Amino acid sequence: MKIKLDLSNILKNFINKENQYTIPIFIPHKGCPNNCIFCNQKRISGQLKNVSIEEIDNIINEYLGYYDVHDKRIEIAFFGGSFTGIDITLQRQYLGVAKKYVDSRKVDSIRLSTRPDYIDEDILTMLKEYNVGTIELGVQSMDEKVLNYAKRGHTASDVIFASKLIKKYGIKLGHQIMIGLPNSTLETELYTIRECLKLGPTQLRIYPVYVIEDSELYDMYNIKEYIPLSIEDAVKRCVAVIGECQKTDVSIIRLGLQSTSEITSSNSNLFGPVCDNFAEYVMAKIIRDEIENKVNNFNDNIEVYVPSKYVSVTIGPKRINKIFFENKYNIRYIVKGEN
Ligand code: SF4
Repeated sequence: MKIKLDLSNILKNFINKENQYTIPIFIPHKGCPNNCIFCNQKRISGQLKNVSIEEIDNIINEYLGYYDVHDKRIEIAFFGGSFTGIDITLQRQYLGVAKKYVDSRKVDSIRLSTRPDYIDEDILTMLKEYNVGTIELGVQSMDEKVLNYAKRGHTASDVIFASKLIKKYGIKLGHQIMIGLPNSTLETELYTIRECLKLGPTQLRIYPVYVIEDSELYDMYNIKEYIPLSIEDAVKRCVAVIGECQKTDVSIIRLGLQSTSEITSSNSNLFGPVCDNFAEYVMAKIIRDEIENKVNNFNDNIEVYVPSKYVSVTIGPKRINKIFFENKYNIRYIVKGEN
């Protein structure tokens, strides 16, 4: 049996409409007064040091050196911590360096991530001065109980207030949400994504919760007060959340934490749905569900035709889809690419 999948609809939210390079600058939040249970920045703050202006300049120049042609938009992104919670003089200094590159047209825009309760009119007026184009809010959940338990220190109303204000100032809005926080369920996560989508973010990051050493969650994990999601469960929940996104044009710009020296499947002190290609597992499951929905009975081998760029994800990481269909239906599962 031959099946043709165009995938453009079910994977449409994975297509990042912004064709761009990103220059990442990590700003650890040394003085963060909060104590989110999944975060280790407070406990390791003695080891964190502020990034200097000179370092930022060097990082930007290094990245610009990689892009010999300005063939895509180039964006400077301040990640980590909560940018608008750091000392205002430092914020202005960091933004001043970035703006220099925007003014000289070497870079097109600036983005930063922050907490919903660190946004107000004064902050946004200042960010506009420096041409900040996108603000990503760490929403994590829209369920008050989940937020409380995670000790986020902000409410769902803060998310609504900040999101509306950011849009009012003509700045692009991004949301970050977490899957698998303590007390969170599939229902609270579906509620979260629906509430977020009502606020009209253009971009979304979805992070399954990892248990990181030196965090409160790590202590809870050790005394079995928190059981992290398996990869399989985290994938299922993400697929359900993405199902809600398919009704909108929001771009999922990241699914799963970015690999770093600390966040890697080879770190034996990192627990939860840890894998280096989490997004591929989620996409493979979306495709698998689509095939099962399309085919009424699997009494024959199947040949699946997909655009060439989707061949590997249609087979699945570690051939997960191939193994699934061949074991479940006792058929051959063949994937072919088409241009
Ligand atoms: S995740 Fe929470 S504790 Fe960690 S830096 Fe952000 S606000 Fe502070």
